[in-house]
Formats: sequence, C-alpha cells, structure tokens
Amino acid sequence: MVTNFDSLFDLMEAFPDEQACIDLLRAIRWRDGEFCPYCKRNRIYHFSDRKTFKCGECRQRFSIKVGTIFEDTKLPLRKWFMAIWMIANQPKNIASTTLAKDLKITQKTAWFVLHRLRHAARTPSFNAPLKGDVEADTTFAGGKEKNKHARDQKGDTQGGASKVVVLSIIERGGEPSAKHVPDHKAKNLQGKVRQNVVRGAAVLTDEDKAYVGLGNDYTHPAVNHSAGEYCCLAASLIRTQSSQCGLCSSAKSSAYILGCRRSASAATRLKRFGATTVAAGK
Ligand SMILES: [Zn+2]
Repeated sequence: MVTNFDSLFDLMEAFPDEQACIDLLRAIRWRDGEFCPYCKRNRIYHFSDRKTFKCGECRQRFSIKVGTIFEDTKLPLRKWFMAIWMIANQPKNIASTTLAKDLKITQKTAWFVLHRLRHAARTPSFNAPLKGDVEADTTFAGGKEKNKHARDQKGDTQGGASKVVVLSIIERGGEPSAKHVPDHKAKNLQGKVRQNVVRGAAVLTDEDKAYVGLGNDYTHPAVNHSAGEYCCLAASLIRTQSSQCGLCSSAKSSAYILGCRRSASAATRLKRFGATTVAAGK
C-alpha cells in the first residue's frame, strides 16, 4: 500500500477516482478483518456499488467513512486526501482561503476541513469508542425563529423543531464529542450513543424519554431535573460537560454544581451507582 507521495500530482495519480480512495480506506480500517462500525461484529454484507455495506447483526447500513473523520461529510474523499497532503506538506499553517481556492471548495467547507483535521491530529481517541463514565446530553442550536429570514423560517417552533439538535457525548477525563442528529427521536439519539460508547459503560443522561432503553446495554442512571437533581452526576464525576452544553443548564461551574440542591433520592441513587463523593444537599 503506497501512502507516501512526493507531490500532489503523485497523490492524484494514485487516487484517480473516489473508489480508489474508498479502497484505501477499507484496506486501512479493515486490515485485521471487516467489522461493523456500530456493533463491532464481523458479519458484513457488501452492496454491488462497492461503497455501501450492511451489518448482518445490527442490520445497519454504513459506508467506510462511518467512525472516521470523514463521517457525515459530502466532501469527496479525494479532496480530503488532497487537503491532508497539503496540510502535511505546508511549512506553515495553511489558510482556509488558500485551501478553498486550491480544492475548489467554499471557504466555509475549507474551514471545516481544517478544523476537523486539526482536531483529529490532537485527539488521540478520535476514532476510539468512549468507555468508563460517559455523559450524553442534547442541546438545540440555532437562533429564534422570529429572528430568521423569512426563507429560513420553518413555521413550527414547538419543542425546538426549527433548531438543529446536537448530541454531546463526553468520557470522564476525555475529549468532548458533539454529533449532529437529524432529530430528537430515541432511535437517532440512542443510535449515536451506541455507535460511540462501548457496551457496558456507564451512560449518564437526564430523564429525557428518548434515552429510555439505554439501560439494556449500559449502566444508565438518569437525572431528574424537575426534582431538583441538577448535577447529581457531578457529585460522582465532577462535571466536565457543564460548561460545554446543557447537561446542567443552570450550572456554570463544577463548584456550583457540587454545591447545588439535590434530593435525597438522587444521593441514594448516586451511592447505588458507586459514587464516592456525595456532598449533602442544601
Ligand atoms: Zn453491526
């Protein structure tokens, strides 16, 4: 497998089309045998387009990009490969405007590519599933419907329908990971959790009904916000996510979280969960 190229031209010759890139990615990812990116099992069906696969166990369809830095993007792999080559071979930081011009993509896309590649470069576990104690929470991103231009308004504002749903998942002491999900349905949220967290881990969420069922595969103690249990998880974990998303939307810092009001049931549940530090609620 040739993976060193002296020039961009050599790279383009080695990867004349998208299929050549997919084949390389397959050779790298499945060098020890084929596996499903969702359930990690090995019964994989190949579709005739040579791009799509299906797991014989969990029945999910997927491309070879799932679980890599190329996931959820429409940018062709050839352009990704070119971007990687250019970044690796530039003596200085490459500007998104330069990348955009050379790859014939928009500056917005170039910025995204650079951002994701830099993130991948400094994140050792980018491709590794999360384990141990993992928090998951959703947040709705996007402005108010009334502030949007008429052409962008969707009309339905109930339950954050007009906003983008972002699922944040973070491993205790690890890097946060934010995933865009099409909607707030259990199937999508739990699918992303199962895709990113190893079975048997402790997944901590709020009492959102969309997470009901995670207990089949994970240790899953939920927090009841309405009963004043903000942050009960924090007592055991010293929240790391609070500043990043809305797991404890009222909380601004770990210190605040630890001092906040918790119900007795939350403390009991925490102890059952194995918490070592359960501060008395005020
Ligand atoms: Zn599977």
